[in-house]
Amino acid sequence: MDIKKFIYKYILRRKYYRYGACKRCGACCTKIYVNSRKSMIRDEEEFEKLKHLHPFYTYLEVIDKDENGLVFKCNKFDKEKRICTIHKFRPGICRRYPSEIIFKMGAVMAENCGFKFVPIESFKEVFEKVSKNKLKN
Ligand code: SF4
Ligand code: SF4
Repeated sequence: MDIKKFIYKYILRRKYYRYGACKRCGACCTKIYVNSRKSMIRDEEEFEKLKHLHPFYTYLEVIDKDENGLVFKCNKFDKEKRICTIHKFRPGICRRYPSEIIFKMGAVMAENCGFKFVPIESFKEVFEKVSKNKLKN
């Protein structure tokens, strides 16, 4: 096993490698769902309570509601310049985006995002592991 794979898999406990770069499309700043206690926020009253927990929530404005829940946009995103106006001081969740952890919480990659995730273990490796375990039992 190579060193990169070892670090990702056993130290960082990741299942995917992340490749690519931000294309500054702004999709992840202009269509946001908020997850709380394992479900998406569906009403504004519930969201108001979150605003006391982290300043990031105070940047968000409701723009829509769909089958997943409330849809927000961040008011720190400059639509014309296509930049985050607080880039240097943006919250940790934005610095780490897109990260595997938020996808485990139910987030979905924006279409045309410049990043992609590739499984650390190939299908062949997983298949061989499962087959070996079956033979042992
Ligand atoms: S959706 Fe992806 S490419 Fe677009 S701004 Fe966000 S991170 Fe960058
Ligand atoms: S703080 Fe900046 S990076 Fe984070 S969602 Fe808002 S505009 Fe995007």
